[in-house]
Amino acid sequence: MSRSAHPAGPRHADVLPEGHYSAPPADLNRLDPKVWARTVERNAQGVVTVGGRGVDELAEEFGTPAYFLDESDFRARCRAWADAFGSDADVFYAGKAFLSRAIVRWLKEEGLNLDVCSGGELTTALDAGMPAERIAFHGNNKSEDEIRRAVSVGVGRIVLDSFQEIVRVAHIAESLGKRQRVQIRVTVGVEAHTHEFIATAHEDQKFGIALAGGQAAEAVRRALRLDGLELIGIHSHIGSQIFDMAGFEVSARRVVQLLAEVRDEHGVELPEIDLGGGLGIAYTSDDDPREPHHIAKALTEIVTRECEAAGLRTPRISVEPGRAIVGPTAFTLYRVGTVKPLEGLRTYVSVDGGMSDNIRTALYDAEYSVSLVSRTSDAEPMLSRVVGKHCESGDIVVKDAFLPSDLAPGDLIAVPATGAYCRSMASNYNHALRPPVVAVSDGEARVIVRRETEEDLLRLDVG
Ligand SMILES: *Cc1c(COP(=O)(O)O)cnc(C)c1O
Repeated sequence: MSRSAHPAGPRHADVLPEGHYSAPPADLNRLDPKVWARTVERNAQGVVTVGGRGVDELAEEFGTPAYFLDESDFRARCRAWADAFGSDADVFYAGKAFLSRAIVRWLKEEGLNLDVCSGGELTTALDAGMPAERIAFHGNNKSEDEIRRAVSVGVGRIVLDSFQEIVRVAHIAESLGKRQRVQIRVTVGVEAHTHEFIATAHEDQKFGIALAGGQAAEAVRRALRLDGLELIGIHSHIGSQIFDMAGFEVSARRVVQLLAEVRDEHGVELPEIDLGGGLGIAYTSDDDPREPHHIAKALTEIVTRECEAAGLRTPRISVEPGRAIVGPTAFTLYRVGTVKPLEGLRTYVSVDGGMSDNIRTALYDAEYSVSLVSRTSDAEPMLSRVVGKHCESGDIVVKDAFLPSDLAPGDLIAVPATGAYCRSMASNYNHALRPPVVAVSDGEARVIVRRETEEDLLRLDVG
């Protein structure tokens, strides 16, 4: 493809339009290991490789846009979480971040458990051979059918989210002649996002039962009375993309306080607490996530200390990382279609995907990085906005990033850290065909979720 020159784009030195970006990196060709999957590097020809395979040949073989997932990195992250928590705790991978049969098999092989939150996720998990007792079922409005299936197959736990659900699950379990292991999800009045947490007035959301006003204590009272339920613990999930342990500290303290109240009132020490997921990853070089062993140490210490203070046996802890396991392991590969410099503003780089394969930027104002990956360049940095091909001006993939000013149609660019909440949130907007997920490992690339086809589109359209 021709590298036709375009009129000189805005330079970072001349113009600094509003945006959320820092100075351009010293070397645009460098791949920050913080944001890229572990085996990603640049080869001698300047082409980026993953698992030993160049993005140029991967694009040729699998097309673009496509997600490339570093299998060895995924497995290593699973092991790091499992090892960090050891045998006294359970790690549940949050399937909503990204789930497929291959993922389920890897989780199973690496000794992790799995959170699902819909019948579809449950089916995928069971189909790929995850033992039901290693599955936790979540959600604020599980259907009766979903509950019946979960109880019938014998999931390890159902996390109860409302007073109505306590009765609903108990009733279904009894009708099936079963006693279902359950946790109660509580809202602890803490909401954490990225670098901050707020410890007041966050009961105003749809999940869980508030500790405030004795509601959670009442939920425990009711659950303990029902024959169909075996109440094994309390669950709390406080947010997402969290870097600061302070929110977990407050959450753990409040959950342990509830355990102490339950003991005082009922003479029962609930054996488990689940502190949820939400651990942050690096989307850009400005993010500094903690390693699993730091997180494990901090959480275990907090819970142990609070339990000692309350005179309780330390319960078994579980955690539910989704993003922190799969997020960093994949990148999205796009081909540049057009490059449009807007004088005094920035250069719009249009790629062959967009909000249909990554809705997070439009949905949460998420930040991402991007690099030219099919070659190196010594051209000057150009303030860019990577946009998709959808009929929507909010169709932005990377809001503000620097790309080399000689970027041209036909170049391949990649957005790292798209393993979580990208393919799983992908849509068919504009009848886009959802991209494949290709697992790469030791020089081998294999499709684990295939690209959608126009036939798939027409097959659903039965009018
Ligand atoms: C979303 C969610 C998770 C996973 O969150 P991450 O930010 O991906 O770690 C874990 N537990 C529950 C209950 C969730 O809703």
